This record gives sequence, structure tokens and C-alpha cells, in this order.
Amino acid sequence: MIKQAKQVLKQTFGYDEFRPLQGDVISDVLNKKDTLVIMPTGGGKSLCYQIPAILFDGLTIVISPLISLMKDQVEQLDEFGVPALFLNSTLTPERYAANVQKLKNGEAKLLYLAPETLMMKSTRELLDQLNVDCFTIDEAHCISEWGHDFRPEYRQLAEVRKDFPTAVCLALTATATPRVREDIRTTLEMNKTETYVASFDRKNLLLQVVDKQEPLEQILDFLYTRPKQSGIIYCFSRRQVNELYSDLKHEGHSVLPYHAGLSEAQRTRNQEAFIRDNAQIIVATIAFGMGINKPDVRFVIHHDMPQNIESYYQQIGRAGRDGLQADCMLLYSYSDKQKIQYFINQKEGEEKKIAEQHLAALLNFMEYDDCRRKPLLKYFGEEYQHDECGMCDNCLKYKDNMQDYTEQAQKYMSCIARTDETFGAYYIADILRGSKQKKILENDHDKLSTYGIGQEWTKNQWIQLSRLLLRKDLLKKDPDHGSLKLTSASSAVLKGDERVEGILDRTQATSDEDKPSRTSSDVENLHNVDLFEKLRVKRKELADEQEIPPYAIFPDTTLMEMSFYFPQDDESLMAIYGVGSVKMKKYGDDFLPIIKEFVQNNEVKERTKAIKKKVEKTTEKKKYELVGEEFNQGKSVEHLAEQFGVKEVTILSNLKKYLDDGNKIDPDGILEASSLSQRKIDEVYESMDKVGADILKPVYEDLDKTVDYGELRVLQLAYLAENRSS
Ligand code: ADP
Ligand code: ZN
Repeated sequence: MIKQAKQVLKQTFGYDEFRPLQGDVISDVLNKKDTLVIMPTGGGKSLCYQIPAILFDGLTIVISPLISLMKDQVEQLDEFGVPALFLNSTLTPERYAANVQKLKNGEAKLLYLAPETLMMKSTRELLDQLNVDCFTIDEAHCISEWGHDFRPEYRQLAEVRKDFPTAVCLALTATATPRVREDIRTTLEMNKTETYVASFDRKNLLLQVVDKQEPLEQILDFLYTRPKQSGIIYCFSRRQVNELYSDLKHEGHSVLPYHAGLSEAQRTRNQEAFIRDNAQIIVATIAFGMGINKPDVRFVIHHDMPQNIESYYQQIGRAGRDGLQADCMLLYSYSDKQKIQYFINQKEGEEKKIAEQHLAALLNFMEYDDCRRKPLLKYFGEEYQHDECGMCDNCLKYKDNMQDYTEQAQKYMSCIARTDETFGAYYIADILRGSKQKKILENDHDKLSTYGIGQEWTKNQWIQLSRLLLRKDLLKKDPDHGSLKLTSASSAVLKGDERVEGILDRTQATSDEDKPSRTSSDVENLHNVDLFEKLRVKRKELADEQEIPPYAIFPDTTLMEMSFYFPQDDESLMAIYGVGSVKMKKYGDDFLPIIKEFVQNNEVKERTKAIKKKVEKTTEKKKYELVGEEFNQGKSVEHLAEQFGVKEVTILSNLKKYLDDGNKIDPDGILEASSLSQRKIDEVYESMDKVGADILKPVYEDLDKTVDYGELRVLQLAYLAENRSS
């Protein structure tokens, strides 16, 4: 069964791997086991019922509270070639009747319904005649008064569910404190239920809480660095929405308002404009967002304090569903806090108590001075497993703020220039540190004026600097050879006209470890932006023709992969993220010629996207040797994981084998795969000196279990590589 599910995943949706828990959930549903799924927004809940729906003979009913969401889902499914439809009050009587007929003919796999529609006598009679295999309740938290979006109609779902005794029941939600979870289970009378709770850590969201001083200025600064990006700005009141909307419009931004004071038609129009990329920014009250499935929302700003952690989490959750980085900025002032307190004081009894608890949790989050993921995840009953995430303001600030690195940048860049831009970060660092390694002497690089002028820093610091310079576009990296090159912006720094400031040791928090489907950072950082733009334009054109949102055609991730791998034929296009067989047929001829033409006119060539089968053909032994060799040629662990289509831990264990065979590997290259701070790394090394590095348990104990095994495995390898080579 699960094998078929995987085929559907690739064939229909164009994805290679399940996201965490998807496989387990789908397998349970296919086995008709009632299931409750708690997964953050963007976690991939939809596939949990869409894939079984495709495989079941009968119909899958999906209860969804929002009409706009249904339309969006059906449009997206349509693009994937999956027959789905909805019944609700927005349909004309003719369309309604046509849909009913299709259902009777068994022409649909999925039926989306609002709870009100489901409760209607006519609907129940209709469903009575159909073979229903799965009864799905989306946004299941609406059942609970403890959730943030209680809907009384949801209470009656348990009753209706009895109409389909042979259907499996699947309830899904993104927001569930343990209390809400329990409510869902009891209300739906789910007794022997499997419950799956995914991690609520959305690694790709950068969290920031900022002192609100001059909010308009602060927001304008923020937007300035994000041209062409889609985002949502939440305000407390309609008045505030209108004000900020006209201010931003006045400043020339592509922006629209959204709040309950606008007419229904206006709201729908504005929402559509946002979804279809006709407007980039929506300024809104909390009324906006529930029905938004847009995967490429790149930022969420809270102009005012959110009501509580759950709604905050729900709102920021609308950013970065595609797994690419997205920025969340919350502006916080004391007077906002007083405003909320004032509203709470109007309430009474239990309601007031709940509101006060909510406020306290929120304040704790906003005033927290350590990693923000700790209080945030704790609220959802999850313990954050790391010291720092590197993706929140506190973790970034902790690295002693910005510093001036102009002098070192000049040394580093002139060394690159003097070696003809043909070497990678490690080699440049070695020259600066005056290394006597063979390759340097052979190349006569010990005669360079930059040789040995960087003794003040460790090699690791130089490597970190190279990353900072890459982030700032002061350097670029040849994606094939890893050699560093200067950019048009470099000369201003070399001449001393421009300074370089930044944070050196920015911990890499967006590791792909348990997110196999997140696009690798190479694709995210190194795709060709010119081609990406061209593809975007094509996508918009196609979307407008069909009156559907651009992302229903392809998400950004797909376009990024196209502009990174430059696929030249149908076969390699099929390997691209999000390209299934139906979309291939439908859009291959629209996108391939653009890519081909681009490749002909530019100095780029196709890269093969690793397809697993190729790797599986080589035997295990050959593979780890291959991995070791390629690693020593300068490829990163991350890069290799992508190339071989495996997880990073697998690459690490391959390298360990390679090392154990008596080969050498570069310890610094291994350290790149660690997300620990230098301070922590030194601590682990000390411990390994003390208790040995061959077995990890003693190290784990010695460090009071503060460093997890995943990290220890990385450091073990680096440690062994270092010690065995010396
Ligand atoms: P949720 O409903 O949990 O918020 P969605 O079901 O809308 O999340 O999924 C978010 C995005 O992730 C969608 O664009 C979806 O196509 C994509 N996605 C889901 N599962 C996978 C997967 N296994 N591999 C790649 N992309 C996926
Ligand atoms: Zn953090």
C-alpha cells in the first residue's frame, strides 16, 4: 500500500520523499485506522488525505470551514489532474446540480464541504447513496472552545460521521495545545485513535521581536530589502489597517487592505489579488489568512501585538510554507500590552482567566532573552532540543552583534584575486594562515604577498568570513568547483570605499536533516536569478490565462530548481521538485523552451539532479568510497546528501567508513555540517580528549546530555579525522 502511495507522490505530485509523519499517517488511513494529525502549517497535511483519496475506490469527504480554501484546494488538485469538487453556497444552481451529478456518477475522488452544507438534509441524502471511504475533518481545532477559532457547527460532526460506518475518520489541525487535542478526540468520539504530532518547529522562519518605535519607518526599512516578495502585515484594528495601507501605498508599494469592515466582494477581490501576485502586500486584521494556502509568503509582520501565542503561531505559520526562508517580525510596545490588558479586563469569569493565561504566555515569549524557539515550542508541549537556533533575533544577537570585518575582508579578497579566483574557501584560508601544505608550496603560493598575513585568526574564522562575504554578495562561489570569485561589489571594499559589517558565527539553523523535501540551500542560494525571473513571468502569464494562482501551476521551489539544474529534456524535467506527470504534459512545453534558450545564450550547462536509482546501482562499498573521494575534492556533506539523494547522516556514516578504512578526510569540511557554536564545539572536543571519541555514550554523559547524538556524530567524525591525520 505504502509503495503505491509513494508512486502517487512522485507520479502525481512530483515529490520524491514524504515529509515527516506523512508516510505513517497515509498508511494508517489506507488501513482504515482513525487518525488525528497535528502538524504545523506548511507541514503537508493535505497530502495525508489526498493520497489515500486517490487510492481509495470510494469518495473522500473533506470538511473544511472556509469556502475560499476549498476553491483553492480544488484548483490545485485540478492542476495535478486529481478529480475533486466542492459543494457550497457560492455555486450557481446549475454548477451545484452538475457537481451532484458528477458525484453520483462516481467522477470525483474528493468532495470538499463546509460543515453547514454537510448538515443539510439534501446533502446527507446524497451522501447516503455514495460509497464513502474517508471522512476528513480539516482544521479540526474548530471543534474546541479552547482553540482560537471555535465553530459550533463542528460539534455536530460526530453525529454525521455515524452515517458512514465503513469510512475511516481523519482529523487534522495545525493548532493544538494538549487541551484542544483532547477535546477533538472526545468530541469526535475517536477512541482507538492513532495520534501523530509533528514537531512545531518551523526551521525556515526567522523570528524577530522588535521594539516598536516608529513603526512606519521600521516597516518601510524592512520592505526596502524585500522587493518583489509577498507578505502579510497584521494590525490590531481596522483603523490601523486603513492608515498603514494608505501610508504604504503612498510610498509606492503594491499593497491592499483586508478587514471585516470591507464588503465581502472587496475582501474576496483583495485576497485573490494577493494570491495571484497582483498585489504583493496585504495589510490586514486577524480576519485575513485562514483561507490562504499561498506557499510563497516571504514575510509576516505584526504591526501590533498578536492576541495570544496560538494566533501568533498560526499567523506566522502562513509564511514560508514552501520551506524556503521567511521572515517574521513582531513590533512590540508597552502600550500595545496595555491595550490587550484593557480588553481582558472587560471579560469575566473563565473567559477572563483563559485570556490572562494567554497573555502571560505571549509576554513570556516576547520578553524572552534566550532562543525564542524555546518558549514558543514549549507552549505546544514540545521541548526545544538545541541551545540556539540561529534563526531568531536572540540567537543572532547573542553572537555579540555586528562587527566590522573590513580589514579581514580585504585580506581575504585580495588573496582570492592573487590566486586568479580559482580556489575554494579552505585553500585561501590556508594561504592567509601561512600553511606549508604541499599544494601551496607547489603552486608557489608561499611567495604571494598575502601569504601568512592572516595569522590573527583561526582557519575556522576565515571560513566563517567567507560565508559572510558570500551572504553579502561580495563573493560568489562557482557551483561546480567551489572556487570563490569576486563580484562587481568587491572592488569598493578592496579600495576601502565600502565597509564590511556582519555577524561571523551565524549558526546554520536551516539544516535539512529531518526535512527531506526542503529545497537544498544550494538551490535556494545559487539558482540563476535571471532565468528564475523569466520563468516567473511565464508562470504568471499562464496563471492569468486560466484564472488560477501562479503557485497552483508551480511553486517557487520548482522554478528555483529549474534555474539551478537547467533540465534540457522531459526526463530531467520530471526529476524536478513538483513536476508530476500531469503537469509535465500540461506545462513542459511552456517551460522547457525557455530553459533551453537560456542555456544556449548563457554560459551555463545542465546539472544532473541526482536520481536515487543511479546510486542504488552502485554497491554499498563503492558508494562510500565515492562519497569519500568526492568529499575530499571539496564537496560539502550537504551537497553530497543531495547528490546521492540520502540524508546527511548517511553521508557522515559513509565518511566514517571511509576514514576507518585508513583514508584521510578534511576535518574542517566535516565541521561545516555542525550547527553548534565554536564555543560548544571546543567543549565537545575537550570532552573527547578526556573520555575518548570512539564511543559516543560517555561523551554524551560527560556533557550532561546537552549535545544530542546527531551533533556528536558530526563532531566525532571531525575529531577522528583531525587526530588520525596528525
Ligand atoms: P498544511 O496544510 O499542513 O499547511 P500543505 O498541505 O498545504 O500544508 O503543504 C504545504 C506545501 O508543501 C504545499 O505546497 C505542498 O504541495 C508541499 N508538500 C507537501 N508534502 C510534500 C512532500 N512530501 N514533498 C514536497 N512538498 C510537499
Ligand atoms: Zn533562537
